[in-house]
Amino acid sequence: MPEAEIGIIGGSGLYDAAFIENAKRVKVYTPYGKPSDFITVGILRGRKVAFLARHGPKHSIPPHKVNYRANIWAFKELGVKRVVAVSAVGSLREDYKPGDFLCPDQFIDMTKKREYTFYDGGQVAHVSMADPFCPELRSLCANVAKELGIALHEKGTYICIEGPRFSTRAESRLWRMWGADIIGMTLVPEINLAREARMCYLTIAMVTDYDVWAERPVTAHEVAKVMAENVEKAKKLLYELIPRIPETRSCNCHKYMDEAIL
Ligand SMILES: [Zn+2]
Repeated sequence: MPEAEIGIIGGSGLYDAAFIENAKRVKVYTPYGKPSDFITVGILRGRKVAFLARHGPKHSIPPHKVNYRANIWAFKELGVKRVVAVSAVGSLREDYKPGDFLCPDQFIDMTKKREYTFYDGGQVAHVSMADPFCPELRSLCANVAKELGIALHEKGTYICIEGPRFSTRAESRLWRMWGADIIGMTLVPEINLAREARMCYLTIAMVTDYDVWAERPVTAHEVAKVMAENVEKAKKLLYELIPRIPETRSCNCHKYMDEAIL
């Protein structure tokens, strides 16, 4: 089976792997069933990458039905050590505008019934999530965005809701009071499973709209336009970011599991 060192997960809008050279679609079997799709393995500017569309090739899998365990397991099987996930999010702050990018450094989990762990019995693991995102990838991504002139906020808290419905106005106000900056439905449990698999994890969050707190509804047309522009920027960012990811890790992401197993 072909190997990959960096795994890219495409969210809403980013479905195609056309930017990957020598692309091969591989079917990976996992103990947790099928991943969202075949995995595309190939080369991106000299680096071995794997690409997976989180919601499936035709966006047919809703956030609460994504088989996160199979997706991360499949990456692990292919040799992936670092995950770069691209996601569309709503903004909970006036100054995080539609079209802006953000690399969150924290999250709040408000999901309700997902499969959160590979350690489901037999062996028990409590892994540290105090610093959930890879600091090395975050600062690298911020630097690359700066060079490309892409507006990217280097910090922020992502609140992950169960979905598939959007928040009520009261909920949206509550998330703001809690200090959340952006909102989405797919970060958890993808990020904690990646940590259990000893991978680094980076989210490139693309702001498409203001969540309902803003009380000025955006039209579907506006959202579609921002999404299209975001996806082009995200591809540009990946194209510059991926070749600059160091081959040896200077972060601690792969060491947390050493302390986690009872
Ligand atoms: Zn790391």
